[in-house]
Amino acid sequence: MTSFIKNAIFITSLLATSTAFAADPHWTYDEEWDNLSNATAPTKATDFPYAECGLGQKQSPIDLGAAKAVTSTNALKPTYKSEALTVVNNGHSIKVNVPATTKSVLSIGSEQYTLLQYHVHAPSEHVVGGKIYAAEIHFVHGTPDGKLAVVGVLVDAPATAKANVEFQNLLNVAPKNTTDAPALTANPAKLLPSTSKFYLYSGSLTTPPCTEGVNWYVLQKPIQITPAQLTTFETLYSGNARAAQALNGRQVLAK
Ligand SMILES: [Zn+2]
Repeated sequence: MTSFIKNAIFITSLLATSTAFAADPHWTYDEEWDNLSNATAPTKATDFPYAECGLGQKQSPIDLGAAKAVTSTNALKPTYKSEALTVVNNGHSIKVNVPATTKSVLSIGSEQYTLLQYHVHAPSEHVVGGKIYAAEIHFVHGTPDGKLAVVGVLVDAPATAKANVEFQNLLNVAPKNTTDAPALTANPAKLLPSTSKFYLYSGSLTTPPCTEGVNWYVLQKPIQITPAQLTTFETLYSGNARAAQALNGRQVLAK
């Protein structure tokens, strides 16, 4: 099987994750997801498709403040290319879909992860010693055998910031409704900070079904957008951020 086909299958199975149940319950950021069910009289475990959101012991996001400095971890090397992307409003965020043919990859040591999509939360989901950032961008990557690695980019919006051209390009096409899917030619690397020092821990998807086994790499240096750019994004989504979850003994590393 070519890696292209394997990748296409992987992406299809990823999409299936969010439609694994015939009618997944609608969810919002204002409720407990593990209690949600479409069954009229829910009794069995499968009646609660988001149970992992409540039962999981390795949930995301977390507070990264207790990170322990290490040198042993593999370096991160994102190699993203400029290409034609598709921007959607999925009802929870603005999400940029990367084509299955992409050559945009994240190398972690000798492993290569393909960039699948990126999306924006406001405010940030990860916090650092209690500090909440203005926003956070998640770059979701996968391997053909189903491993997931997400790179989190924290976003500051100080009064002194210069307009972020790349973020503005995204804002300019970000759809208000869930039926539009405008094209955007962009190089996602332009949304990364200049250094790739990171926090590393094992966590989960931060939206239902909150699946665990996700390797998180949150970059330590935030990028900047202007307060006006933040306000523009917030007219689309504000408060699409899950609260920090319990560490439950997990180690957070910093490199
Ligand atoms: Zn996210």
